[in-house]
Amino acid sequence: MKHLLILGAGTAGTMMANKLVARLPSRGWTVTVVDRDDVHVYQPGLLLVPFGVYAPDSIVKPRASLLHADVRYVQGELDRVDVDTKRVHLADGTRLPWDLLILATGTRLLPEQTPGLTGRRWHDSIYDFYTLEGAAALARRLSTFERGRLVVHVHEMPIKCPVAPLEFAFLADWFLTEHGRRNDVGITFVTPLDGAFTKPVASRVLGGMMAARGIEVVTDVGTERIDEDEGSIVAYDGRRIPFDLLVTVPVHGGAAAIGASGLGDAMDFVPTDRHTLQTKAHPDIFALGDCTDLPVSKAGAVAHFQGDVLVDNVLRHIDGLPLSPAFDGHANCFIETGFGKAMLIDFSETTEPLPGRFPLPGIGPFTLLEESVTNHLGKLAFKWIYWNLLVAGKELPFEQRFTLSGKWS
Ligand SMILES: Cc1cc2nc3c(=O)[nH]c(=O)nc-3n(C[C@H](O)[C@H](O)[C@H](O)COP(=O)(O)OP(=O)(O)OC[C@H]3O[C@@H](n4cnc5c(N)ncnc54)[C@H](O)[C@@H]3O)c2cc1C
Repeated sequence: MKHLLILGAGTAGTMMANKLVARLPSRGWTVTVVDRDDVHVYQPGLLLVPFGVYAPDSIVKPRASLLHADVRYVQGELDRVDVDTKRVHLADGTRLPWDLLILATGTRLLPEQTPGLTGRRWHDSIYDFYTLEGAAALARRLSTFERGRLVVHVHEMPIKCPVAPLEFAFLADWFLTEHGRRNDVGITFVTPLDGAFTKPVASRVLGGMMAARGIEVVTDVGTERIDEDEGSIVAYDGRRIPFDLLVTVPVHGGAAAIGASGLGDAMDFVPTDRHTLQTKAHPDIFALGDCTDLPVSKAGAVAHFQGDVLVDNVLRHIDGLPLSPAFDGHANCFIETGFGKAMLIDFSETTEPLPGRFPLPGIGPFTLLEESVTNHLGKLAFKWIYWNLLVAGKELPFEQRFTLSGKWS
């Protein structure tokens, strides 16, 4: 038997294990997945926890329950990958052999890299919503936050789901309006980018929506530190942005074990071929999802589009065929805009989000770069799709490759 080993049983690792177990055992391969715990979090749901839309325990499932019965699940902290001996070492001393390795270790949040962030104000007036604990603590704080300045802050790119902080600002506007507190709470969105989002057209549309809702946008902020005494963000250019409640998206890096194995760049992200998903370190090591260094959104939808390419390339690699350079940077994402509506963006590495209809050209039902109730219902339905189709490795009704059909400029 030969061994396919997948590191990480999050969105990408679980999906890949379930897709590949349908094809590999008949070719004499086993499929094993490793993760440190048994708590799979539906991360898009983290956005809605602070506003009481989802309870924290409603967005988690045991990892093993999401894996096909023929996938071997090993729970343990990954220590390092030994490329020469083709072994993965776990912290408890376990060694796992591999013939083919898939890295799906996602990102690591590094709030301690910002001086003052995790000091005495952490979970008092400073929160994150990218972790289950952070989102749950923030829900408690938001429910009693009556007046002052709420600052939504992105430290630096890349971050996973780059639209999530924008969505948070829109949802805060809705939540505070619903609870009759909006006139007493100012909302500021602080970003290292030169606009609301990374892509110019979407940035213009989203920036206009922010302005219309009285959300102040402060751009080009390189965060140096948090002044705990004053309660402000201090930028390298000397600007100070005061807050009463800071909701921050901390610095992201790749998994420490990736760096320790010599498989990462300076931030421990994995240098990866942008079209084939083979790592640059070794031909028998592939990577997908948030752990790569690719200049595409770190999003579950991207991991999904990469998954189809990677299944094909794993089979080609095993069969000694040339790899297919099929990944085109396709990404899409619902953007919650509050008041029961959402937008949808669909884009690729080379084409930015455009208006139109999706997935059926001219029909939809989803509207691109335009708010609609249908989009919001689509975002809520995505939770069911995630658990039952996406991580289960089943087909979704979206084209793997980006297409211009149904879009207009
Ligand atoms: C608030 C929020 C909202 C989001 N909204 C959306 C959305 O609307 N649409 C969308 O497409 N995406 C969204 N995302 C992004 C999406 O959740 C991620 O892009 C996706 O989960 C990436 O999958 P992954 O498998 O690469 O990483 P993950 O799902 O994070 O999995 C990585 C796994 O590796 C494991 N691991 C890492 N290091 C080790 C180690 N040393 N030992 C053992 N195990 C280890 C981790 O425990 C983890 O389970 C959102 C994310 C957040 C935080």
